[in-house]
Amino acid sequence: MSQKIDLNNTEIAFGYKSNAELKNSLFIFGLLQKPALVSLLTKVADWIIKYKIPLKFVLRKTVFKVFCAGENRQQAALTIKHLQEFKVNTVLDYVAEGDNSEESFENNLNTILTNIQFVSENAKNATVGVKLSGLEDVNFLKKFKQTNEGKTDEEKARLARFVERTDKICKAGSDKVVKIYIDAEEYSTQFIFDDVVEQMMEKYNKTNVIVYNTLQMYLKDRVDYLNKCIVDAKQKNFLLGMKLVRGAYVEKEREYAKRDGVPSPVFDTKEGTDTSYNKALTICLEEHQLIHTCLASHNQKSVELAIQLIEELKIENHYDKVFFSQLYGMSDNLTFNLANAGYNSSKYVPYGEVEKAIPYLMRRAEENSSIEGQVGREYELLLQEKKRRK
Ligand SMILES: Cc1cc2nc3c(=O)[nH]c(=O)nc-3n(C[C@H](O)[C@H](O)[C@H](O)COP(=O)(O)OP(=O)(O)OC[C@H]3O[C@@H](n4cnc5c(N)ncnc54)[C@H](O)[C@@H]3O)c2cc1C
Repeated sequence: MSQKIDLNNTEIAFGYKSNAELKNSLFIFGLLQKPALVSLLTKVADWIIKYKIPLKFVLRKTVFKVFCAGENRQQAALTIKHLQEFKVNTVLDYVAEGDNSEESFENNLNTILTNIQFVSENAKNATVGVKLSGLEDVNFLKKFKQTNEGKTDEEKARLARFVERTDKICKAGSDKVVKIYIDAEEYSTQFIFDDVVEQMMEKYNKTNVIVYNTLQMYLKDRVDYLNKCIVDAKQKNFLLGMKLVRGAYVEKEREYAKRDGVPSPVFDTKEGTDTSYNKALTICLEEHQLIHTCLASHNQKSVELAIQLIEELKIENHYDKVFFSQLYGMSDNLTFNLANAGYNSSKYVPYGEVEKAIPYLMRRAEENSSIEGQVGREYELLLQEKKRRK
């Protein structure tokens, strides 16, 4: 590993946080260390949405503040600017989960198009994150494995509208030279997402990479899928954009597989996921002329492996085909120390109305409380910084 970078330097990691913000993060990560409390809070958050209980000010001042950049673009813009001061780029992510109407799909599309325009004018090197489930009902999409598989004329037209919305986003990204990261979601939608994103990459990634797919490396089939994409891209002469994540829906995928009586698509152990993640990372970096990679992870070992490979392959730190990214509010030690050492480093910066962000916040809370060691490490680093400031 590089001698030049200390990924646990807390002064650099939390330099962007005021004392009050540091205190709030410590409070939240302190709560997250208690899984029973997290499970209770998750239920409470569910009730807040379901029964419209007016408690959102509590969320806004606490957990929302740690993991989200604000309720609107103007508030997010302040965060983007602040991060830029520390050489950290932004992946702007409008969080709006769960609303399934044509009107809301069109609204989401327009919000994303406005975000692309906004970052092209105000935030050099910023990227826009997109959840395709915000552009069509996932229960409808789950029925298809490919876009040309629509059964009735009505279904074909609806599928075509979904592809058209995705295309509008990718075209806007291409016109404004703003990268588009398409998130991965539940496995049942992945076939159709892969098909659409491959079409977009073939169309918009001819000379530069605009469109990125996300590979959830907890899925047993993803290394083979990555190799298939490499063959296709070479044959059809386009570039690949790959965001590598481990995957956020382990429990759900296992439940679905059990319910449907099929084998789980997810590795049975964390070790299986880690091996597959590091394998994909190695393939992507070795193929860096063809693949632009975003290493989206809080796992320090994977980040260290990437740094080592970057050195071995004699790639420059600031090489514009390799990016690191962590979620806002998490693993600041990686993001800010990487940026400080000259790597392309960014934060996923979600924003949106508190109610619409609740499923996202619940995922962060559950993920943080269930992962052995992760919250403890985050909490320890925050505590270390608090002591250092004293
Ligand atoms: C910038 C960014 C963008 C992201 N975008 C997406 C996205 O588009 N889609 C998405 O699904 N997630 C996304 N995530 C979340 C991501 O998938 C992980 O949930 C999260 O980052 C934790 O994984 P990790 O690599 O940081 O490391 P770690 O904390 O080391 O790993 C935790 C992960 O390992 C896996 N795991 C844990 N236990 C087991 C087990 N027993 N068996 C098998 N696997 C296990 C799970 O995937 C778990 O999330 C994103 C994360 C980041 C940082």
